[in-house]
Amino acid sequence: MTEHSASSHGSIPSGDSARNTGIATQDSFDAIVIGAGVAGTLSALLCAREGRRVLLVDRQKFPRSKVCGCCLNGRAQEVLKSAGLESGLARLKPVSTTAMRVHQSRKSLVVTMPGGLAVSRFALDQWLISEAVQAGAEFMEDTTASVAPRNDANPDQSRSNSNAFRTVDLESNGRRWQVQGRIVLVCDGLSHPSLSRLEGFESVPRPGARIGLGATFARCSADAWIPTDEIQMVVGPDGYVGVVEVEDGQLNLAAAIRPAALQSRRTPLQVLTSLFECNGLPVPLQLPQAVIRGTVPLTRKSRRISEERLFVLRDATGYVEPFTGEGMAWAMTASLLAAPLVEECIRDGWDSTIEDRFQQTFEKAIIREQGICRLMSTVVGNPLLLKMTMSTFRLMPWAARSLVARVNRLPSSLKRSE
Ligand SMILES: Cc1cc2nc3c(=O)[nH]c(=O)nc-3n(C[C@H](O)[C@H](O)[C@H](O)COP(=O)(O)OP(=O)(O)OC[C@H]3O[C@@H](n4cnc5c(N)ncnc54)[C@H](O)[C@@H]3O)c2cc1C
Repeated sequence: MTEHSASSHGSIPSGDSARNTGIATQDSFDAIVIGAGVAGTLSALLCAREGRRVLLVDRQKFPRSKVCGCCLNGRAQEVLKSAGLESGLARLKPVSTTAMRVHQSRKSLVVTMPGGLAVSRFALDQWLISEAVQAGAEFMEDTTASVAPRNDANPDQSRSNSNAFRTVDLESNGRRWQVQGRIVLVCDGLSHPSLSRLEGFESVPRPGARIGLGATFARCSADAWIPTDEIQMVVGPDGYVGVVEVEDGQLNLAAAIRPAALQSRRTPLQVLTSLFECNGLPVPLQLPQAVIRGTVPLTRKSRRISEERLFVLRDATGYVEPFTGEGMAWAMTASLLAAPLVEECIRDGWDSTIEDRFQQTFEKAIIREQGICRLMSTVVGNPLLLKMTMSTFRLMPWAARSLVARVNRLPSSLKRSE
């Protein structure tokens, strides 16, 4: 078996009862959440807990796999804990990780990272959907959403009514219809396709941005060089690849690869194989049989992140390569920070100060913090810089520890609200 199977996660509560339950044209919701990744599911859950009518939509069928390193750092776990989800996470039986081993030029360095967890997105996202559904959210899978521009907002509605809602077009199995939301939360990942009709929201990749690759496959005895409690990070001239064991005993692989390496007629498997081989490491035995998924270019920025009754959250706002599980932590932090503003908009209506406060919150809590990851991304892309950094960390292991601690801590705005 080279992919997760639904049956291997039979113990996860299913959201089946609420799936595609015939939501009608022009149905209106307090919030429409587009994308059931970590940002969308947590946002839907928090809003449903306020007693609001919430529609969570995703274009994929669940459970589904996703290109991701699957490592939850301390901050991500704290955010889940603060949302009362700690015991549910424990029921997924995530693998505990204590360190990352970085391999470069046939040398390796262990960076201590206590308290990490590894859990597949197949299991994690399905569980978060079921938590949102249990909180009262309605979930539609296999349904593609597209936000209508404001001046397209349902022409049949009165002016005051159309100002109170945003329109979202839905499409599933050839059926097309519209729904209305007092607020729309766009959590649809890297290139935020649901915003393609809105002006000014283009998602612009950085020139030369690396491409993501991912796969999940069975672990064999030949893979014993990958200890269960260690994340392996293998760096080479074409990029880097991370491997970790997840809750069902399979290995999860996630890589960021220079686009030029994939353009020179080499298959993704050949590029990944050469990363292991140039470090003198065996290629995980089942990797050649695995389904390898790809992403659009990773590092990117969205020109805008909000407009009237619309917030863009996490990867949809732009992407900085994560190194120790920051990606999901940022996504969940954004959902938690946005929740009071979402509630305010539903309760009191939209006012332009909400937009300013939304942007300031994210500037402070996430965008500034991404500086460390931007720096690490540059270091990993430059063999000489990486060699120097690894030598420094060997001499001063406390420097690596304090870097890891910094990206793991909760932003001060969340600490205050605890
Ligand atoms: C190679 C790689 C390794 C990574 N490793 C880690 C790691 O170890 N730890 C970590 O914390 N983070 C990691 N990340 C980052 C992490 O995966 C993301 O930051 C995180 O998934 C962002 O969550 P999100 O909810 O914003 O978007 P996503 O999780 O991408 O969810 C977006 C959802 O929107 C849906 N969607 C898209 N378009 C539409 C549409 N039009 N209509 C309806 N639905 C739609 C998609 O199907 C998807 O389910 C990694 C990323 C990559 C690429």
